[in-house]
Amino acid sequence: VYSELSYSDVERFIECGPLILSECDKITNNQSGELLRINPDHSETLLSQLSEIDVGDAYSYRNFLVAAGFLAFDGDEKSGVYVRGNLKEQGKEKSCAERNAEAALRRRGFIRSAGLIVQASADIDLIHAVTGVATPTLHPCPDLCQPILATSRIIPVDMPVITIADDGSRFQAFVLSDMLKAYDDDNYEKLMKKNIGGRIDFFEALVSYRKILRQAEMWKNKPTPGELAVTALLDTAR
Ligand SMILES: [Zn+2]
Repeated sequence: VYSELSYSDVERFIECGPLILSECDKITNNQSGELLRINPDHSETLLSQLSEIDVGDAYSYRNFLVAAGFLAFDGDEKSGVYVRGNLKEQGKEKSCAERNAEAALRRRGFIRSAGLIVQASADIDLIHAVTGVATPTLHPCPDLCQPILATSRIIPVDMPVITIADDGSRFQAFVLSDMLKAYDDDNYEKLMKKNIGGRIDFFEALVSYRKILRQAEMWKNKPTPGELAVTALLDTAR
């Protein structure tokens, strides 16, 4: 059982957001139609402040590229960023980005994730064709990835999930358990029309997160770290 998510875990996730997103960009902006193999040279980036960075391959014969990245911690409080793409060859079963990233994380012995970013096409018709719901951004698929996220030992259900359109036009942010519940309840109103921000700004969100956290010291009912992250992200991006 993973240890509980702390405010500082989630703060670190928002802090690492630009980094995770830039790795996701490499996957979703691959126009070549070729299998993408990424060997990050992270000597000059923020990545060097992390214990580990691992970015995998992506391929889709339909050219529907998805990138998923987690920030996670091991038992010694070392943190790592795991980013994976989807693999979809014609006539073969799909292998989703979220699922590939979660598996990589578990194999490496990380014990808890602090948040997930998923980036994919901004084309709502394409999204509808993949998940069956015409959401503004691609969510983890209801048939395979949502059950994995719901039951994984290393995924806290109260962690934030950020889903981003790869043209940068908009994003959505949810506490994972809220997203899962909305799918369970067929609450399409919530999935399609709520929690939508414009261009994401992790720096502004980080400032807002810290500010609300300071104010919340006096509150009787504090937001959870995941709720606070969602509020901070959506507040700053309208
Ligand atoms: Zn999936």
